[in-house]
Amino acid sequence: MAEETIFSKIIRKEIPTPLLYQDELVTAFRDIAPRVSTHILIVPNKLIPTINDVEQEDELTLGRMITVAKKLAKEEGISQDGYRLIINCNEHGGQEVFHIHMHLLGGQHLGPMISKT
Ligand code: AMP
Repeated sequence: MAEETIFSKIIRKEIPTPLLYQDELVTAFRDIAPRVSTHILIVPNKLIPTINDVEQEDELTLGRMITVAKKLAKEEGISQDGYRLIINCNEHGGQEVFHIHMHLLGGQHLGPMISKT
């Protein structure tokens, strides 16, 4: 069994984080340390540690993450100017919380997709 992260507690409303969206498959809330003016996390309610752990049965949930991103982008007023969706995986991807989540980033120019190191 994968170990729970703080995201499971947020999903179960055990810690008081304002939710922007929740249904039977996914939950969305603002990132605690926003990198840009709009920075929202869209998280499956089911604990899936990394994209490597995704199963075929999760396809509906993963699709829901996209449709919820689209809905929230519209609500945030960033649809027309555009935004970026990111899912990090493991060390090279820079993943810190091992419960998959999609970052919805926007509200300003986001620069190049990958910064030069
Ligand atoms: P990642 O590097 O893709 O795993 O991103 C993890 C994200 O979770 C970071 O952007 C953190 O700022 C964010 N985060 C960590 N703890 C919380 C929390 N309690 N509430 C909201 N966002 C969080």
